[in-house]
This record gives sequence, structure tokens and C-alpha cells, in this order.
Amino acid sequence: MRLPHIPPYKTKVVEPVYFKTKEERANKITEVNYNLFNLHSDWVVVDLMTDSGTGAMSEQQWSEIILGDESYAGSESYFKLIRSVKDIMGFEYVAPTHQGRAAENILFSAVVKEGDVVPGNAHFDTTKGHIEFRKAKAIDCTIKEAFDTSLDHPFKGNIDLDKLESVIKEYGRERIPFINITVTCNTVGGQPVSMQNIKEVMTLARKHYIPVYMDIARYAENAYFIKTRETAYADKSIREIVKEMFDGVSVVWMSAKKDGLVNIGGFIALHDASLYERLGQFTIIYEGFITYGGMSGRAMGALAEGLKEGIEFDYLDDRIKQVAYLGQKLKDYGIPIQDPVGGHALYIDAKRMLPNVPQSQFPAQLLGVEAYIEGGVRGVEIGTLLADKDPVTGEERFPEMELLRLAIPRRVYSRSHMDYVAATMANIKDKCKSLSSGLSIVKQADILRHFTVELAMI
Ligand SMILES: *Cc1c(COP(=O)(O)O)cnc(C)c1O
Repeated sequence: MRLPHIPPYKTKVVEPVYFKTKEERANKITEVNYNLFNLHSDWVVVDLMTDSGTGAMSEQQWSEIILGDESYAGSESYFKLIRSVKDIMGFEYVAPTHQGRAAENILFSAVVKEGDVVPGNAHFDTTKGHIEFRKAKAIDCTIKEAFDTSLDHPFKGNIDLDKLESVIKEYGRERIPFINITVTCNTVGGQPVSMQNIKEVMTLARKHYIPVYMDIARYAENAYFIKTRETAYADKSIREIVKEMFDGVSVVWMSAKKDGLVNIGGFIALHDASLYERLGQFTIIYEGFITYGGMSGRAMGALAEGLKEGIEFDYLDDRIKQVAYLGQKLKDYGIPIQDPVGGHALYIDAKRMLPNVPQSQFPAQLLGVEAYIEGGVRGVEIGTLLADKDPVTGEERFPEMELLRLAIPRRVYSRSHMDYVAATMANIKDKCKSLSSGLSIVKQADILRHFTVELAMI
């Protein structure tokens, strides 16, 4: 008999899960104005709100917590982090930050100014937020195939080169501080970018003298997809692929809460000494001294180790297969998802699952509310709420896709949790088909409104 696939780890420490009744959950979600961010975590059974900072650390990482050097300047844990980043990614300079958006704040303070344009593949929400906050514009150049959830394409995170070139022609390279490649592309479904596409973008960028930056929260998952989906890379190691992905890239920044396998942390890594010096000024204002940038010594030590574990093939293989397992179960139950399944999450197509709820009534958020009430499964809306209103015209923006994301924390849940989640979604399928009205906004912020929005049932 062929032995079944099992995770390459076992459990040493456990954390309790609390169960509430459906009625209690229905009351709770009303109390918090239908905002899933406002739920207390012990009201949630399986928490798939995010894969960010929610993973389990290894015994080696916990030992780094004990070894953490908490010196204000020049901590050994900092040098461990620098060595890891240099070894795995090949960058000379590393600026730690407390998480990804802090890296964006520091980096964009140095390079993005009013009137600038940053083309890329479906910028992450905080990335777009930090660009728009500076009165610059993020222009999405993702291939059109990404926006049809039923279409099979191995690299839906790819950049459309014609679109990119037309943006460069329209705005001129003086207004484009960098081209941004996000790996994997979270916003369109944790979809990978192919090595071929990365190289083509690099060539186009070089032709126009524009640097390429990468937002690399899930770079290891992207490398796994290159290895398993791009024929030329089947025999290359994840390490080799990562090096090649970053070849010629000027700057990367990372939310280490994803593929760094830590609960908090981030950094900017780059080759340019003078830009690194300028970043240091902003690090000191916003984060802390340049050798810790908002991280504790122990957190830097855990990250130095987490980066190494995050590129191990067996770990990645197990992780991606767990996500694929849930994806297949959902498909078997007839739940419409972004296909093929991406790296860290399942994306349920709310337009197809709730065909009678208008997009202006936030169908993906409604789907999240229904999943919570049914099984205590918490996802997150990636749709009209997340898109925010247009910062210039103040008008509602309707993105092409209206999704509920179920993100899988790393090394936390078992296969039986995945079965539970799939059953929850299957149970609400018929109800969702029959729903014809959704939610309306009672209160909202101007930027990144989804975190604090208050909603009411129509
Ligand atoms: C999470 C994430 C960020 C922001 O990082 P935080 O650690 O949440 O501040 C930026 N870009 C991408 C692609 C991300 O996934």
C-alpha cells in the first residue's frame, strides 16, 4: 500500500478551541456590527481570517526566543537575521521593521512622492494604502485571466506586459519610482508569478531604466509553484529558485508574518548602500534603531530560523497540499473557488455563490457572516469593502472579484479542521443561493475601512 501523506511535524504544545452555539454566534456577529475583525478569537472555532502571524513556531525557533539578544544596538540576533537574509536572498543590506506595512512606510517615505505611479500585480491593501496615502497611484497590471475564477491558469499572479508598457508610456519613467511585483499575489488569490514573467518584467523595466521591487511576503510559496508548475525548474531546489527570482531585483520588502514563519516581524533588503542609509533615517523616526527596527532580539532570532524552515521543500509541499486538500473538498461540494488553488488560502467566489446579492451590498462579507454563524469559521472579505472608495472622487469602487478568503495558518490546523470548514461551507450553500439582499455601511473610515467598518443587515 502507498503510505498516505502526513505533515513533516508533530505537536508539542496545544491550544484549546472553544465552542459556542449557532444562536450565540448569531448574537455575537450582530453585536459587533457584522465586522469579523471585531469578534473575540475565543468566539471563533476555526480561524481562517489570515495566515499572517498566526503560524506555529518550531522548537528551534522557540530556542531562538530564549537565545534572543535584547541589546539596544548591534544585537547578535540582528546579525543572525542579516546572515539568514543574505544567505537565502542574496541582499547586502537589511533593515528590520516590526511588520510588512512598517517596511512599506519606511521604503515609500524614501522613494514615493505625490503624483507618482506604481504599476504592479494587484497591490496588497496596505501597499495600495501606503501609496495612495502619499497621493500617488497604484496601477494594477495583473493578467486578465486572474479575474475569472473558473479559468485554469498556472500563474494568475503574472503581470500583463502590454498593460505595463502602456502605463510606462502614459506616465513616463520619471513618475514611476519602481515596478512592484508581489509574490505570491494575495489580492487575486495567492496566485504565483512565473519565473518567465519575472524575467520579462525585468527586461522591460531595464529597457525603461525603472527599478523592480518585490513585495515578498510569500516568496517561498511562489518558489514552490515555480518548481512544481514551470517545467524548466522541476529539478531546481527552492533555494536556487529563490536566488534566481531575486536576481536583478533592486529592493524587496517582507511581511515576515507569512513565509518567515513568525508571529511578528518584517524587513527591507536591498543592494544600494545610499538608499539603505536614507531608509535608516526613517527607521529611526518610525521604528527604532536600525539594528532592530521595531523587533525584539528574540523575534529577530526566531525569524532568522523561520526563514530557513520556510524554504524547506517538505514543509512547503505539506503546506500547499493542505490548502489544495481543502480546495478539492470545497469543489467536491460545489463551492465556487478561485481555480487553481493558490498558496496560502482558498478564495470563494461570492458573485457565484450569492448570485442574487448586488455587489453594492457586499456579498462576500455576507458570505463571511453566514460561515461564521454556521460553523464559527472566520474568513475575510476581499471585495468591495476592501477596495475602499476612490480617494479622489469618493465614489464606491467595485473590484472585478468579490471573494471570501479562507487563509490557512502555517502548521496549525489538521486535516479534520479542513473537513470541518468544507462541511460548514457546504451547509450554507443553498441558503446563500436564495439570499437576495446583503449589508449596508453604517460607519466607515476613509482608508483601509474594512478593519473598522460597521454594517447593518438590509
Ligand atoms: C501581509 C502583507 C503585507 C503587509 O504586511 P503586515 O505584516 O500585515 O503589515 C504587505 N504585502 C503583502 C503581499 C502581504 O501579504
